[in-house]
This record gives sequence, structure tokens and C-alpha cells, in this order.
Amino acid sequence: MLDVKRIRKDFPILNRLVNGKKLIYFDNAATSQTPKQVIDAISQYYFNNNSNVHRGVHFLSEEATSAFELSRNKIQEHFKISKSCQVIFTSGTTHSINIVASGYAQKLKKGDEIIVSELEHHSNIVPWQMLCERVGTKLRVIRMNSQGNLDIKSFEKILSKKTKLVFVNHVSNSLGTINPIEEIIFKAHKYGAKVIIDGAQAVPHFNPNLQKLDVDYYAFSAHKLCGPTGVGVLYGKEELLKDLPPYHGGGEMISNVTFEKTTYAEIPYKFEAGTPNISGVIGFGAALDYLNNIGFNNIISYEEELLKYATEKLNLINGLKIFGESINKTSVISFNVDEIHPYDIGLILDKMGIAVRTGKHCTQPIMDFYNIPGTVRASFAFYNTFEEIDKLVFAINKAINILK
Ligand SMILES: *Cc1c(COP(=O)(O)O)cnc(C)c1O
Repeated sequence: MLDVKRIRKDFPILNRLVNGKKLIYFDNAATSQTPKQVIDAISQYYFNNNSNVHRGVHFLSEEATSAFELSRNKIQEHFKISKSCQVIFTSGTTHSINIVASGYAQKLKKGDEIIVSELEHHSNIVPWQMLCERVGTKLRVIRMNSQGNLDIKSFEKILSKKTKLVFVNHVSNSLGTINPIEEIIFKAHKYGAKVIIDGAQAVPHFNPNLQKLDVDYYAFSAHKLCGPTGVGVLYGKEELLKDLPPYHGGGEMISNVTFEKTTYAEIPYKFEAGTPNISGVIGFGAALDYLNNIGFNNIISYEEELLKYATEKLNLINGLKIFGESINKTSVISFNVDEIHPYDIGLILDKMGIAVRTGKHCTQPIMDFYNIPGTVRASFAFYNTFEEIDKLVFAINKAINILK
């Protein structure tokens, strides 16, 4: 079991007051809080090692380079990736996805098809639409059902020899649904399509084995799993990454430059032009250490308990409806109360020190499916408590009294 009381001491921000009340942070799906261990790793870098990586022969640069590369190895190990060169540092999930989309813009042609799901984050829809506009490929959609699950039959119907890419998130950020990506990958591969998975909401809650999944590309951000903002990863199969054109040009990504022709460096450097977010990468490594110290098995079972408890308590509130009722979901609850606008509930919760997200959560197609303007989303992490959930329930009831 988790010693949540002790764990909470690692998160200084959880002690602060918001609107005169002790902060209750239920917006973990937007960004997670950062433990002291990660903050320390970042400041240690600036105190002691600050220097550019992969460039100098001098002492500090070598230290910074080893710390930077050590994080790559930690990520490789954590996600069971076979080689460290398959871990490409990016500025986050959005950047990772854009690298793949812009690479395929040079490979695909008119008549090819790309499949995305109705459960996607906007960052997963827009790059593919841009690609389709540029190249003339067609975007097709895997439909969802009212529980918030993907309709696999609708996937099978649109899958064909024309399908070149399939893009699905591992976990939906607005509903928490864990999508059956093993099945999706297996089916897509039968048609020779490549699969890219957005793992931004999956990696904070469990640790996928990327090799075993047989996924072609997988993207995630550090800031959703206790790491800093502005750093993320693109994983890919080695031969695919070698074959994918680079995204932007600059220093660090070349092996030979003349005005006639430039040859690119090997992966991962081919995709890492310019000075990377060095402190962020080091902080990311520290975040993985921190989480592995707690243990993902412990995190999974505790978050399941939190989700079960919160679902039961919220369902007791008159007029409250939960959106996203998959039996496979992470600790995210999206809800509305009768016709009350989610924003109004969010404002009152904020006055009581409770941070939730309100709105469309960058997933307008899901909101359109349910024909709602948005939801209130409470997303829980392993440092949240049952008492905080009780306070949320109390605060929602109070909001209903004020707004009705
Ligand atoms: C947060 C999120 C993103 C975007 O991540 P960035 O770090 O902002 O690039 C993409 N997809 C999902 C499912 C997310 O939750």
C-alpha cells in the first residue's frame, strides 16, 4: 500500500492555500505536480553542471552529456525499449506527433488513407488534417459509443489496403477510456498500416512495454508524469525512425554539412536539432526514478481505489451524470450536473480551493457526440486522498445549491 501521507510531503505545492483554502489538485490530466526530487534534480543541474551537451570536450559539458544520456537510458529501461537510439527527445507529445506527421507528408500520396479515432485530443487531429490538406490523403474516423469506448467494428469497416497510418490515443484525456490498442495494432498491421499511439494519458498511470506492444511510434510528455513541462519523447521502431525524414534542421542533427549537400546524423540525433531542454530531460529521468521508487503496481491499485470511491460518491449526487463509463479507464471523471454549465461549477469549486478542468478538454468531437458544451473533469493522481474526494462531493453539492 502507498504511504500517501509521506508521499504528499514530497510535493510542496500541495501545502499552499488557494482562495484561503488548502489546495485540492484534481487537474492531474492537464499536468501533474512535481515532487521535490525532480525540482532538486533540475536545480542541481543549474547549480553544478550547466553546459551544452554533445559539444564540448570540457568537463562540464561531459558531465551534462552523461546526465542527459542517462535519462535516455532510464526511459529506455522503463518502457522496455530495445535500443536507446529509439528514444527521441522532443518538447512534448504534440511535437512528437508532428515529427511523425510531417515525415509522412513526404511519404504518402493522394488516395492513401489515415485513420484516427473520435476520442482524440486536438493535438492528434490537427496534424493529420494538415497532412491531408498538403498531400490529398483522406482522414477516416473510428467511432465511439455512449460508454466512451471505441467501436472496433467501425474500425474494421474502414480499414483497407489504402490505410497507411492509424492514430489512436492509448488513454482518452477527457473520458479516461483505456483503448484496446493491442487489438488495433494487430488489425492495422494485417493491412500493412503503421500505428502511432499517443501515450500522454497512459504513462502516468501504468507503464506500457513498448516492444511487446509492437507499436510503430509512441509519444508522451514528461509533465503528465511528475516531470517538467516542455519535454517529451517520441519512440519508434528503429528501421522506421531511420527511414523517417527529419522534422527541422539545425545543429546537432547533421553529420556533414557543405553548401552542396548535408548528411544527417544517426538517430536519435537526426531528430534533435538545436540545444535540447537539457534540465528538462534530466528532470524527466528523476521523475521516472521517483515513480519507480513508489512502484507502478502500488500506483495502479491506489488510483483504482480512488476512482471507484469517487465514482460511487459522485453517482449519489442528484442530477450528476458521468461521461465515460468504460470498465477499462484511468482515474479521470468527466461529469455534468443537469443543465448547469460546467464552467459555473468549476468557478465555485475554485473558490473552495479545488482545481478541476472545465470545458471541452481539447476534445470537441467527444463533446459533440454527447451534444454537451463541455464537462467538469476531475482527474486523480496517487498523491490525492479519499478525504479530498469527500471535499469535492461537498463542494459540488454546495455549488448545486448556489446555482439552482
Ligand atoms: C496532454 C495531452 C497531449 C498534449 O501534450 P503536450 O505536452 O501539451 O504536447 C496530447 N494528447 C493527450 C491525450 C494529452 O492528454
